[in-house]
Amino acid sequence: MYPPVCPLCGRISPGGICPSCREKTVPAADGAFCMHCGKPLADEAAEYCPDCRKQMEGGGSCLDQGRSLWLHREPVAGALYRFKYHNRRRWGRLFAKELANSYACQVRRWQTDVVIPVPLHPSRRRKRGFNQAEILARELGARCGVPVRTDVLFRIRRTTPQKALGRADRMQNLKGAFGVSAAWKPCRNVLLVDDIYTTGATLEHAAKVLRKAGVQNVRFLTISIGQGI
Ligand SMILES: [Zn+2]
Ligand SMILES: [Zn+2]
Repeated sequence: MYPPVCPLCGRISPGGICPSCREKTVPAADGAFCMHCGKPLADEAAEYCPDCRKQMEGGGSCLDQGRSLWLHREPVAGALYRFKYHNRRRWGRLFAKELANSYACQVRRWQTDVVIPVPLHPSRRRKRGFNQAEILARELGARCGVPVRTDVLFRIRRTTPQKALGRADRMQNLKGAFGVSAAWKPCRNVLLVDDIYTTGATLEHAAKVLRKAGVQNVRFLTISIGQGI
C-alpha cells in the first residue's frame, strides 16, 4: 500500500533506514554507557551516569536496567515526533525491527516473561488514534517471541504532558498516574517499552506499580534516549 520509505528521512528506501540516515544516527551503546539507564557516559570509567548515581543515593530506582537504540537528536528526534504526532504509525514497526536487531539477545538474557508498552491515558489514546509504545511493543514481542500484554498496566489519571515540565515536576506530575489490573497474576521479569527516555520519570512510575504488584524485575527498552533536562 505504501512505498517502502526510510522512517528517519521519509525518502524511498527499500531496506528501511537509508545509508545516509544510518550514518547520522548515534547508537546509545556505542561507547561506555550507564549500567542502569544505558545513557552514554562522559566519564568512561564510571559505572553509572550522574543522574542515576543521584537517584541511587536518594532511595534507588524501581527499574532494574534499560537500554535505548539511539541518542535523541536528529534525524531520530524529528522522526519520532512525526511517528507520534503526524500519524506515521507504520514507521513504528521499522523502529521495533531495529530494536530487535540490537537487543533481542538482551531481551533473552533478561529472561523476559512479558513485554508491556507504557500506556497512554484512554483520552489521549483516543485523540491520537494509537499508542506509539504499543506498536513498538507488539512488533518487538513478535520478533523476540515474548508475549505482549496491554491489559495489565493502565494510565488511571490524566497528566500534563511530560515534555512541558522540568525534572522535579515530572516526578510529581506522575504520582498515582499508573495502575495495575487486580486480575493479573504478576510474573518475574517485565520489559517496558516506550519511544523516548528523557528523565526516566514515566518508566520509573510505571515500574513502581508493577513492582508493588509483585513483579521482581522491570527492565526497559526505548528507541531514543535524551541527555536529560
Ligand atoms: Zn533516511
Ligand atoms: Zn544512568
